Amino acid sequence: MDRRTRGSVMNGYLKFIQKKWGVEGLAQCKKDVGIEDMEFRDGQYYQDAIIGNVLRWMHREKGRESLKEAGKFIMHNLGILSWLVRFTDIETLAKKFPKNYSEVYAFGKCKVDLSNPKRLILVLEDVGYYEEACIIWEGVVEESLVMTKTKGRVTHTKCQRQGAPHCEFVIDVY
Ligand SMILES: [Zn+2]
Repeated sequence: MDRRTRGSVMNGYLKFIQKKWGVEGLAQCKKDVGIEDMEFRDGQYYQDAIIGNVLRWMHREKGRESLKEAGKFIMHNLGILSWLVRFTDIETLAKKFPKNYSEVYAFGKCKVDLSNPKRLILVLEDVGYYEEACIIWEGVVEESLVMTKTKGRVTHTKCQRQGAPHCEFVIDVY
């Protein structure tokens, strides 16, 4: 399957790595992953597998919490939602998720179920095909709560890698 992702996502992760572990850390990552000579343009699309390699590197070398942090970081650094998040509530934000998703990722599907305002459901189909992607999404959704000043909790209730038809993240709003 051909999965492609906008360069802006990759650049967000690379920026995070440099901010957290310096120029040396970034150089080490690029070397380990084999992308030393690659340049990613924000508006162009690249194989998602390359991003997967970077995220696996982070998981392996820096641990799970770093991945979540990276997910939180890109919420602030991408065109995706960033600027309007601060002025909106979690429900409105969730409503915009699918459109924003499809502008950045050229594979998989994102749907939301907002029928219960106390229990918002984010469905990602063919997105979490490796563990690290799911951890990133946990971070993204958690940060959505923080940025919209919403009290609540995120649970990754279903996972496609564990046999579910899709990944599901439930946001319980308190
Ligand atoms: Zn999952």
